[in-house]
Amino acid sequence: MKQYRNFIDGRFVDGIRRFADIDPATGRQVAEVHEAGAAQVQAAIAAGRRAVQGPWGRSTVTERAAMLYRIADEIERRFDDFLQAEIEDTGKPVSLASALDIPRGAANFRVFADILKTAPLESFRTDLPDGAQALNYAVRKPLGVVGVISPWNLPLLLLTWKVAPALACGNAVVAKPSEETPGTATLLAEVMQAVGLPEGVFNLVHGFGPGSAGEFITTDPGIDAITFTGESRTGSAIMRAAAEHVRPVSFELGGKNAAVVFADCDFKAAVDGVMRASFLNTGQVCMCSERVYVQRPVYDAFVKALAGRVGSLRMGDPRDAATTHGPLSSAEHRRKVLDYFDLAREEGATFVAGGGVPALSGPFSDGHWVEPTIITGLPETARCQREEVFGPVCHVAPFDTEQEAIALANDTSYGLAATVWTRDLDTAHRVAQSMRVGQAWVNSWFLRDLRTPFGGSGLSGVGREGGLHSLNFYSDITNVCIRI
Ligand code: NAD
Repeated sequence: MKQYRNFIDGRFVDGIRRFADIDPATGRQVAEVHEAGAAQVQAAIAAGRRAVQGPWGRSTVTERAAMLYRIADEIERRFDDFLQAEIEDTGKPVSLASALDIPRGAANFRVFADILKTAPLESFRTDLPDGAQALNYAVRKPLGVVGVISPWNLPLLLLTWKVAPALACGNAVVAKPSEETPGTATLLAEVMQAVGLPEGVFNLVHGFGPGSAGEFITTDPGIDAITFTGESRTGSAIMRAAAEHVRPVSFELGGKNAAVVFADCDFKAAVDGVMRASFLNTGQVCMCSERVYVQRPVYDAFVKALAGRVGSLRMGDPRDAATTHGPLSSAEHRRKVLDYFDLAREEGATFVAGGGVPALSGPFSDGHWVEPTIITGLPETARCQREEVFGPVCHVAPFDTEQEAIALANDTSYGLAATVWTRDLDTAHRVAQSMRVGQAWVNSWFLRDLRTPFGGSGLSGVGREGGLHSLNFYSDITNVCIRI
């Protein structure tokens, strides 16, 4: 059986216990994962501290940018290994993992190398009352040892989205991937070793949250900052741990995102776009649209067309290029999603498409599959309209006026993403800017430029990453003021 070990101070080490890595498409074990104990997490943090105090902490921008390019090149050289590990961990279709997850894993390193090389320093010339002047300029320095905790839905993409800028800024990291998706993270550790990243700069520990590696990272005073992507209530627990030693946090959390479709939209593009926004990665993308609001004149036609498109999604072997819909990440997560379907029925929903478990044959009969599902008819107060399901489901409801659509979209304690579909330029700007979210897309969804701010409002997160926002979070900034 394949072994996924911890990577501490430049070496792969066994854990204190082992747990199973399950392929969600088949329900079968694909690897044994070595859970790191408290002493191993401490050793990883101590190794990180030594690395930051050593040559890595004093390395130049040019040296670090070159290292980030080497990491990106090595990920690309091992593209197929990453692809297989991603598919085994998540069951996601090869068409998706090969176009999104693995290329973005490499791109995250390249983009942050470029941003680092071109990032300006803040500088102000200050006029003083006596006629003299002062020159202020801010310099970025490493924060120290950064704890990186990531989820299972886009495992490599989201881990590297944080590791790359943290390394770019000269930090050491102690990273913990989700217990459900340890594969690509372990390959990333192999990449770090292969490209000669100094020992202790990148450490990887496997395990769970409470009482395990996740909690050991967040409660250790040797961690200087915590960056986390995952559920809002986990963010809340981590924030309490971070408060103890007043450590900065950056959180990318859950969502209950709205799509707003106006009657004047490009109808086909909107149906295709909402279909992607609701069902990509089996609805397991934090930015997925679970609430779709459609202007009344096109509502019936839209629901019908969306149901037709959903019917064309193909489940099955993730390695078959024709497969477009994968399983859910785990048996536990499928139970949660199916419980929400039951709740929706109790809350009065009409199931326009899906709502059940498909019958797959052969090795996939024990996978964690759920049908892509469209529901209608729920009141806005229904729990299924308020809570994040994180599965292949959207609820579609009609609206009449622009003001009503904005109010409906913003009526949530989350605030991650929204999409607006219209041909009218004024409506597009007005409505997109009125969305209380970190990302508002117009006639598109999940279209990313990594230089732009990314994050969430309300329950969806704390802070912004992306571009200079990432460099600022992962740096300690000193302002130098000179009287001249
Ligand atoms: P999760 O919160 O259950 O777990 C995420 C990570 O945190 C895992 O590595 C887990 O082991 C760890 N963890 C759990 N409890 C912990 C604790 N008490 N202390 C320290 N670590 C702990 O999230 P998940 O189920 O893996 O991921 C799905 C969630 O992530 C969804 O809510 C989704 O919306 C969100 N998400 C958000 C974004 C974003 O950019 N905003 C992106 C992807 C996913």
